[in-house]
Order: sequence, then C-alpha cells, then structure tokens
Amino acid sequence: MNSTTSLQSCEARFDPFSDKVVLVAPKRSKRPNGSPASSGDRKLQSPPPAVSSACPPDCPGGHEDLTPPAVYVCPESAALNAPGWTIRVVPNKFSCFSRAGSNLHYELPGGLRGIEDPAGACEVVFETEHHKHPIHSRSPEEMAFCIRAIVNRYQTARLDPQARFWYGFKNLGKAAGGTIDHEHWQLYTFSFVPPAIQERYERAAQYFNRTGRSLYGDRFAAEVASGERIVAASPHFLTFVPFAAGMPYQIRIVPKRHTADFSRMTGDQLIDFGVSLRDAVARLCGVIPDLAFNIELHTAAFEHASAPWFCWHLEIVPRITTLAGVELGLNVMVNPVLPEEAASKLRAVSVG
Ligand SMILES: [Zn+2]
Repeated sequence: MNSTTSLQSCEARFDPFSDKVVLVAPKRSKRPNGSPASSGDRKLQSPPPAVSSACPPDCPGGHEDLTPPAVYVCPESAALNAPGWTIRVVPNKFSCFSRAGSNLHYELPGGLRGIEDPAGACEVVFETEHHKHPIHSRSPEEMAFCIRAIVNRYQTARLDPQARFWYGFKNLGKAAGGTIDHEHWQLYTFSFVPPAIQERYERAAQYFNRTGRSLYGDRFAAEVASGERIVAASPHFLTFVPFAAGMPYQIRIVPKRHTADFSRMTGDQLIDFGVSLRDAVARLCGVIPDLAFNIELHTAAFEHASAPWFCWHLEIVPRITTLAGVELGLNVMVNPVLPEEAASKLRAVSVG
C-alpha cells in the first residue's frame, strides 16, 4: 500500500476495516478556508498547555452537588461526593438511555426493525480535579490513574447481563461536541452492537476465516513494514496515521500485542499506553494548537472479548474539516492532507 508522497490530484483510498472510501485530495486545501492551518515543516515543539485549578461555579467537574451521586472515585479512600478525589465517575445527567429493561419492541411492516429498547448506561469520568489540566500536561502516573479508572468501569459494565457493547470517548472543544471545559471521558454501555461496528466485526471475521490471520494484525504489521505513516513507537504501542484517515492528522494507537479486550493490559502496558496517548496529543497540539478533537477507545464487544480477529485500538480524530454534502450524503470522507505528510509533521514535533 505504498503511495506517492507528492500527490497533486486525488486518490480514493479504501479503509480495509470498513471498506469506506476516503478521497485524499490535497487540492481541496487550496479552497478558501479549506486548509488546516498547520505550523509548517519546521521542527516543532508542543506548546505548553494552560493549566488551572479553579472551577467556575457552574462546572460539574468541580462541584459534586451539580452531578448525580458518584459511582467510583480515585483514590478509593476519598469520599464519593465531597472534595478529595483525583478522578470521579458519575452517571451522565443527560444520558441517551432513559430506560433499563423495558420490553419496548416495535417492528415496521415487512419484519423491519423499528423501535427497540435502548437499555444502556452513560457515565462521565472527570479525570482530574483541576479545571484545566490537558492530557499533554499530565504525568505518566496521572495518565495511568485515569486509564485504571476506565478499566474499572469497563469491568463493572460487563457484569450487567444486558450489556453487549461498551465504548469510551472524549470530546475536546466545541467543534468536537464538547460541552464543558473540565476534561472528562464518556463511557457508554449498550444492550446492542451498533450496526457499523457489527459490519466491521463481520468483515474481520471473514478475513480471518479466509486467511487464518487477523486483518488488524496484518494491517498493523504492514504499517511497521512501510514506516511512512508511523509517528512513534514505544515498548508496547505503535502510533501512526491510518492509511485511509478520514480527517487530517488523524492518529491511531495500537498495542503491539494483539488483543481484542483493552482491559487485559498489564501494569507496564497500561502506563506505556497512557504515555503514548499523552505524547500523541502533544504532537497534534504541536502541529495545530487549540484544536478540537475526539478520542475514541475501540474495544471488542463483550461477546467477542477473546476474538482472534479483532484488536483493540484508540483513535484521535481532529475536527479540522467540516462534514459537508459528500461526507454526510455519501458517507465518503474527503481529506485534504496526505496521511504520509501528516505523519511526517507529527513525527517532527518534539515531545517529552
Ligand atoms: Zn471544572
């Protein structure tokens, strides 16, 4: 899958995991407001992040009385609903799931699925007691604390017999759907596997049945062999720009040890994962400061936690380009930055 790094026209790249097509079109960056304002090719230093402790009066991240009662805090010796915690997990006040265990089921004529019970749970992980404490300002220990809390919530979620699928994500900045500045993860537990995820599973399982190998393992090995989209490598993780990245400077972090279930990380791997995530965010902020982005943690559905054909991974998706007619109407992404050039700029940022 080598490609030219001086692409001038357009290239249709098919994502091997979803078969979705991405139009890589550098010319689009020459449109008015069409260019991601990166800092150019010079050696970059990630800007020092703004850090502050003071929460405004309406911030639920620093005022326990503004949230539902906590379900988990770290350290575990801290009070659930009073100051003294460094990580606090609460049910989402504005959950997508308003029912649990109802028997709502409605089919459309012709046996088509219409309405079903959306049983599930939404939790918010306030990952620091400080109002502004961005990921790239944190110590390895602070990163590890947060990831351990997320693992704890995942392990608790899968005890629910109705739970089938779990998803963790962060929205940073208004353009990424962020509604409060206090940094937090959101953890969703579903009673069903979303159809787009199910299609990815079926595609990966078919590949495994056909070849005896994991699609994820094969593609990640190909990234290492090519090297042109690699951003960084640590003892246990690989950071790269996906071949068919839908967004400029999109970043994927994958474990070197092929595992479907992210909660099986050992202590060393967990610390290394936190540092890999922190450094990837620092690189992104070095290329484009004050950027809005989403972070997505993709682990296997509970029923596939031991599947040999899936590997968990994390995606950082910058919200640089606007989803317009092609993206929304055709589900075809248009990326004006060649992934190989994005990787080159991200590699050039000095971190740590
Ligand atoms: Zn706050």
